[in-house]
Amino acid sequence: MHYSSQTLTMFGRWQSLSRLRTLAFILMSGVIAPPLSSRSLAEILIRDVTPIDAHSGVMETQDALISDGFIVAMGQALEASSSATVINGSGRFLAPGLWDMHVHLSYDDRFVDLMPDLFLDYGITSVRDTGGNLDRLLPILKSLYASDSEAPRVFYAGPLLDGSPVVYGSDEGKGIGEGTATTEQARSRVQELTAAGVSFIKIYEMVTPEIFDAFADEASKVNLPIAAHVPLSMLASEAGPRVQSMEHLRNIEMDCARDAEALLKERREMLAAGRERSSKGMDLRSSIHKTQRDPAVQNEDPKRCDRVLDSLVSTIQVPTARLNAMTQYPPFSVEDWPLALQALPESLRNDWLKAPQYMDPNSYRVLGEWTLAMIPRLAAKNITIGAGTDTPIGWAIPGYSLHRELEILVAAGLNPRSALAAATLVPARFFSLDDQAGRVAEGYQADLLLLDANPLEDIRNTRRIRAVISKGNLVRDMTLE
Ligand SMILES: [Zn+2]
Repeated sequence: MHYSSQTLTMFGRWQSLSRLRTLAFILMSGVIAPPLSSRSLAEILIRDVTPIDAHSGVMETQDALISDGFIVAMGQALEASSSATVINGSGRFLAPGLWDMHVHLSYDDRFVDLMPDLFLDYGITSVRDTGGNLDRLLPILKSLYASDSEAPRVFYAGPLLDGSPVVYGSDEGKGIGEGTATTEQARSRVQELTAAGVSFIKIYEMVTPEIFDAFADEASKVNLPIAAHVPLSMLASEAGPRVQSMEHLRNIEMDCARDAEALLKERREMLAAGRERSSKGMDLRSSIHKTQRDPAVQNEDPKRCDRVLDSLVSTIQVPTARLNAMTQYPPFSVEDWPLALQALPESLRNDWLKAPQYMDPNSYRVLGEWTLAMIPRLAAKNITIGAGTDTPIGWAIPGYSLHRELEILVAAGLNPRSALAAATLVPARFFSLDDQAGRVAEGYQADLLLLDANPLEDIRNTRRIRAVISKGNLVRDMTLE
């Protein structure tokens, strides 16, 4: 757990207040934010189904009644109105809808229209957009939030809040990152983003410790959770405890090394020299990673690393294992990859079929091995793991790739229940929504999957989707097939 239950309640209350303020702002300014209530008025009765979730495990077979976007009753022989849709759940499992905790909806134009449908096809009913230019993202969200739109719930951060030079600048990084020169600028940016309706902020790798501090402090004042890459000018054990989630396990290895302090000094010198030379952010970051990452992994001090991990017990780790360990688990070597690719338009499909040519298996070999070994270590320390893919980056087919992520997490040593939690309870907790999302229980949001088999027995069963309920609506129904 990363908050005490009391803090959690206060956090929740604060968030509701902040949402009301955001709504007032929207009414005044036309800025958009997620709808406060679900559009659904539909009633759905699922008969004789076995509910399962990561909180309660396998529950007694019973009926579940869904109305107005929520699970309103669970029990034996429930009654519904005559207009209700009745589904026979016999022999099937009712699981919470899945989340992908790391997506980029606006990263690649070719995916914009495709992504919401693909997410729902694969049972992803909520996503966390971990970085996008607001000018591009807000119009996309506007259509997803429209009252007649069938789409997953979207929680978004806006731009990658970076320092100097910006990694994802406008020249080669699609402008999804933005620089921050002063602590004042950092603070006012958090205020502006709050007003623009973001649900969290994302801090990136080039910020200085002072700017990181300003972002973290201001975000905590307005109760916005933070997702972050560990800034290159900091140690993971300094930055990690101040944020609610860390992405890709990035730069933890550098703090785990025997010579971590010397590496930090060298990084700061490389950053200063890069700024002096006006290096591009992307190039400077890669040269630092190239210089330090593999040697740090190979020079780990296990005792120091234990202390580093101990400092992260309250921070969710989103390893994006499928991305880090692409050498060990190439996306295109999975049997059903060609079939999943069929959902993409032809030009995109043809492009992605060339993935094996573009991939250099050696460049990420060490990082991949390290990531896979780190997952059971995190689990042994009760560090919470979240499931995210970085789709569409790194040949991650939206939706499909989340199931791959869960499989890889389990193959690396996570048990299926923790893997299911990583895509349900954990993201709900990140947003302090764990009293309303991520479980199959009365009063919870009706984002649900009807499955043919139990994923707590075999995580691959998250793919065996028979029906999808999103915001209380039956959006995919294969119960009669
Ligand atoms: Zn990302």
